[in-house]
Amino acid sequence: MPIRSDLRDRFQDDHQIPREECGIYGISGCKEAANFTYLGLYSLQHRGQESAGIVTSDGQRLFRYAGMGQVAQVFTEEKLRDLSGSSAIGHNRYSTTGASFLRNAQPIRVESNLGGFALAHNGNLVNAWSLRSELERSGSIFQTTIDSEVIVHLMARSGKTDFLDALIYALRQVEGAYSLLILTRDALYAVRDPNGFRPLVMGRRQDGSIVFASETCAFDITDTTYERDVHPGEIVCVDGKGITSYHPFEKRAEALCIFEHIYFSRPDSRIFEQSVYDVRKRLGQVLARAHPCDGDVVVPVPDSSTVAAIGFAEESGIPYTMGLIRSHYIGRTFIEPEQRIRDFGAKIKYNVIRSAIEGKRVVVIDDSIMRGTTSRKLIKMFRRNGAKEVHLRISAPPTRFPCYYGIDIPTRGELIAATHSVEEIIRYLNVDSLGYMSLEEAHSAMMDGTRDRKWCDACFSGTYPLKLDQNDNSNQKDLFPEYLVEER
Ligand code: AMP
Repeated sequence: MPIRSDLRDRFQDDHQIPREECGIYGISGCKEAANFTYLGLYSLQHRGQESAGIVTSDGQRLFRYAGMGQVAQVFTEEKLRDLSGSSAIGHNRYSTTGASFLRNAQPIRVESNLGGFALAHNGNLVNAWSLRSELERSGSIFQTTIDSEVIVHLMARSGKTDFLDALIYALRQVEGAYSLLILTRDALYAVRDPNGFRPLVMGRRQDGSIVFASETCAFDITDTTYERDVHPGEIVCVDGKGITSYHPFEKRAEALCIFEHIYFSRPDSRIFEQSVYDVRKRLGQVLARAHPCDGDVVVPVPDSSTVAAIGFAEESGIPYTMGLIRSHYIGRTFIEPEQRIRDFGAKIKYNVIRSAIEGKRVVVIDDSIMRGTTSRKLIKMFRRNGAKEVHLRISAPPTRFPCYYGIDIPTRGELIAATHSVEEIIRYLNVDSLGYMSLEEAHSAMMDGTRDRKWCDACFSGTYPLKLDQNDNSNQKDLFPEYLVEER
């Protein structure tokens, strides 16, 4: 079926946008594996609200259930009861428009010459398009439009009889960001790509079960003690023999996603061996020193900027005030695909507390400006509610480049900082002043004195640790657009 021209325009506009941010959770050796995975996914809900899925193993068979929507909508007690077994993996998917259908929900479960297995992926592969084209040319039939499926095909066609050998063979061919959890009948594998773009942590419960998750907030809710990060380039296998660690890939320079700390992860999590709360607070403190401001109140754009605003307030001595309240009963702004809806979302998402800001010089702290849609609306709301002055401070450098490794960032053309100067942005947003952090300032805030981590800051600097395959538009929605339209 030919693709509709209005949709084609949208796909082409979105060409550079990978739409994949996800949360993953896995547990091995636990009587209530499905229930714990449910809770883990529940606490990782912020990483994806489009679909949720769990696969369990009872040692003989794999059981799968997945659905569209949030974890609590997808699973009932009854459905969880049906997911029997002592090991499980789960996945929350974040995506927008195109690829939004059930068949793309993860974990993927397949039957193959290697046996049945399931895979959950957080990240984005940058050569998925080329690999998929190649595989299709030689006869592969794909069931989904997600990049992760190429891993499964490469494994099945590896000619290897050993599962781990097949996995290593497949992963040596893929490029990009991947934190993976893979469940077979008798083993759980956790993998992080050699650059370590996306987080993946490992912990242990008192009953001896081993747990993996995107963030440690999923450990707290399941009474799990953090043990360590899965290292970049590491495969951890948990099976009847215990825990085995493999490092089969060539060592690469670390490239931890800086945006996970700035915006994406929960502040009560530890990722990349650092507290997200501590990093955000330092970002606020550095911002206050770099871009001081005469103000009467510091107001965060909740929730992602709350901690940076606490840091800013402490450092500047300006009182921290909850001048803006966020409704928690709607999804994140970017979840809604159409511009029309997004603007509406900004309006229904925030409300200003007039008595907290009226007649005051308000210093608003946000973690990022993408298109400028949110800030512009908020500034209008502050002024309408009687703010004397509105100063905007951003706890990150200007976002000028798209992300190919799994964070949902608009195209370069849409990113206001890519096409406008700070003065132009000030005029567009109608703020009295605007201060972004420099890249160096942001990096200084990432230092906790323990070790010198290497960050992927491509969204700010345009320096991409991994080159994008020339033939690869890296947009999962475009892998199979006709099919996709048919399913909408
Ligand atoms: P915009 O309205 O396009 O300028 O987007 C900026 C707002 O979106 C800020 O308040 C951010 O906290 C938030 N934001 C930044 N990155 C993302 C993302 N990847 N997904 C969802 N929201 C985001």
